[in-house]
Amino acid sequence: MAHPFMVAPGQRVSLAKYDPDFHGEYASKDDLAVVEKLQADLRAVTELQEKLYAEGKQALLIILQGMDAAGKDGTIKHVMAALNPLSCHVVGFKQPTSEELAHDFLWRIHQHAPAKGHIAVFNRSHYEDVIVVRVKGLVSEKLWRGRYEHINAFEKLLADNGTRVVKFFLHISRDEQRRRLQERLADPTKQWKFNPEDLRERERWDEYMAAYEDALSLCSTPWAPWYVVPANHKWYRNLVVADILAQTLRDMNPQYPPPRPDLGRVQIK
Ligand code: AMP
Ligand code: MG
Repeated sequence: MAHPFMVAPGQRVSLAKYDPDFHGEYASKDDLAVVEKLQADLRAVTELQEKLYAEGKQALLIILQGMDAAGKDGTIKHVMAALNPLSCHVVGFKQPTSEELAHDFLWRIHQHAPAKGHIAVFNRSHYEDVIVVRVKGLVSEKLWRGRYEHINAFEKLLADNGTRVVKFFLHISRDEQRRRLQERLADPTKQWKFNPEDLRERERWDEYMAAYEDALSLCSTPWAPWYVVPANHKWYRNLVVADILAQTLRDMNPQYPPPRPDLGRVQIK
């Protein structure tokens, strides 16, 4: 059965219809069921990652997108921590360098795609090229409009080569963003994350939501689905992401390779 937060291919997404405060059947982060489910899903992710690596035939690409303070870093800290660094890497995509800008927008992305047996986590991604680039008008409309098709073809290429792509939009409300940005301002251990530029982006909230709605609607495909994650509650966001990752890896069904036929005769002296 499709996951309730998955955007069905072809579905037109209206973010106003998704409640960022949603937290399902769970009351709070102290609910014992929350702790137990998160632990069980993270354990499953760790075990399946080991099998994926041993098998060496498939790869997983995890994409995290969301507004400033939506919880991309927090999701990496609390959920991706279950991944063994041996076969996992995390890449953050910032403003492109002049060398990156001199190439097509997927050039800097493709080189970080996971090798067979590996998992890659993208903190922002090629979706910035139809989100921030569109809202700020950094390229012509004709150029960014063509990119949805390029993205779908690129992700299909990855899928055809054994890479599962799973994409999370961490959905927070504008009010929740204000609370989190204020917290950043007030907390000396969080001030380093505060960027005055973020306030200008915040003023264009509706334009960002419209850009996200198009990316979610046009680029959720059978081979690379989008999930809209209710993210006002950090604990519920972690629970949902861990649940979807465990489910995705189970569906990929990696297998330990069969032992070599002559192993029975090996003697270790
Ligand atoms: P942060 O995620 O807080 O480290 O910030 C990274 C910044 O880089 C964000 O403001 C992004 O919008 C920006 N960024 C990422 N990719 C692109 C891109 N392709 N074009 C323009 N800005 C980008
Ligand atoms: Mg930032």
